[in-house]
Amino acid sequence: MKAKKDFKIEIMAVGSELLTPYFQDTNSLFLTERLNDLGMEVSYKTIVGDDWDDLALCIKQALSRAHIIIAMGGLGPTKDDRTREAFATVLERKLIFNKELLQRIEERFKRRGLSMPEVNKKQSYVIEGAESLKNRNGTAPGLWLDTGSNKIVLLPGPPHELKPMFEESVMPHLQKHKMDYKARKLLKITGLTESKIETLILDLYPDDPDLRLTTLAHPGQIEIHLSSHSIKSQEQADKRLQKLEKDILERLKENVFSTTGEELEEVVGNLLRQNKKTLAVAESCTGGLIGNRLTDVPGSSDYFLQGVVAYSNQAKINALGVSPELIEKHGAVSAQVAEAMSQGIREKAHSSLGIGVTGIAGPAGGTREKPVGLVYIALAWDKGLESIKNIFLGNRDKIKYQSSQKALDMVRRHLIKYEKKKTGMK
Ligand code: ATP
Ligand code: MG
Repeated sequence: MKAKKDFKIEIMAVGSELLTPYFQDTNSLFLTERLNDLGMEVSYKTIVGDDWDDLALCIKQALSRAHIIIAMGGLGPTKDDRTREAFATVLERKLIFNKELLQRIEERFKRRGLSMPEVNKKQSYVIEGAESLKNRNGTAPGLWLDTGSNKIVLLPGPPHELKPMFEESVMPHLQKHKMDYKARKLLKITGLTESKIETLILDLYPDDPDLRLTTLAHPGQIEIHLSSHSIKSQEQADKRLQKLEKDILERLKENVFSTTGEELEEVVGNLLRQNKKTLAVAESCTGGLIGNRLTDVPGSSDYFLQGVVAYSNQAKINALGVSPELIEKHGAVSAQVAEAMSQGIREKAHSSLGIGVTGIAGPAGGTREKPVGLVYIALAWDKGLESIKNIFLGNRDKIKYQSSQKALDMVRRHLIKYEKKKTGMK
């Protein structure tokens, strides 16, 4: 096997639609991820339209510079699907009719009560010397060809056809060329800014080229992506990563809400269920987003009791029992009203916890004292009440999302505290 740096991989996406503003080549992201899992890096990505000459030129170029070429799209039955033919022509190899493939395609149509259109016949041709790859989810078979100097993979364009075919038929081929062992970990954090995280873990950034740490900021959430690799064993790759993960967790503590990929609403749901607590939410500026996120999680009926969107003052008074005097005195966007909302919904729903959110999502409606992005979030429980004043930046969507994130995080932190108290830890 060649040294890693001399081993080039090219992904080629074929299809004129991928050169318009309306379609994106997402398949290559999936492929890159899976190749990386094998310790393989992608050197080139090409996107080319259906034009024969362009396609042939790109194929020639790929053959000259890459050892593995994974091309996708253009294996269909229509006239503009030419990938198979173009590869055969450039490689100067014949296309050979395969009766079994034809039968398989015909059967697929038959199962749907249709007869096979004549145009599909061309999908039963295989490039000389190639292995045909089964397509469980469509008519276009894929193709694996090892010419000695190049390994060529042709895959259908639709992601739901490409992915299973790649997993089942291409990975086993590539696994033989596995270059090293990878381990990956994703830590999700909320409640700290990116720069704060940076200062907390600055000295943990690894010098070791086999370890990688990247931070990615999203509204209301920071992600730390860790990866490691080893040419020796999976165990070594895992060990390297575990040490770094442990160090980071010690620094960032409970600001890390997920180490196994879960979303915040799932983490909150699990905590509620574990502690036999229920939740109800009263939302103004988030317009139901918190309830929506909570109910995205299967099984949320175990702990989520009720959500009320109380947008107008009157709704806050009628649906949640907020007093008109309180609104008059402090304004609808105030800590006092958020608190009254959280207590109101808790009482109405008979839940253990109540959340109240009121704020200004903008773009209009802000003043100097109460700017756009000002959001009060309150949490009520049997023995107490807490409210937090937040000023979020960004457009309406971002302000709403960050508010929902903060509200869910308040529930999470409250339950962690509760658990600690229960187990006698301080
Ligand atoms: P079919 O038999 O469906 O025609 P095909 O192999 O000919 O399969 P294309 O016609 O090139 O594939 O693409 C079919 C559809 O698959 C495209 O309209 C697009 O939605 C999706 N697709 C194609 N290439 C990609 C890509 N690189 N990333 C994501 N989606 C893609
Ligand atoms: Mg097609």
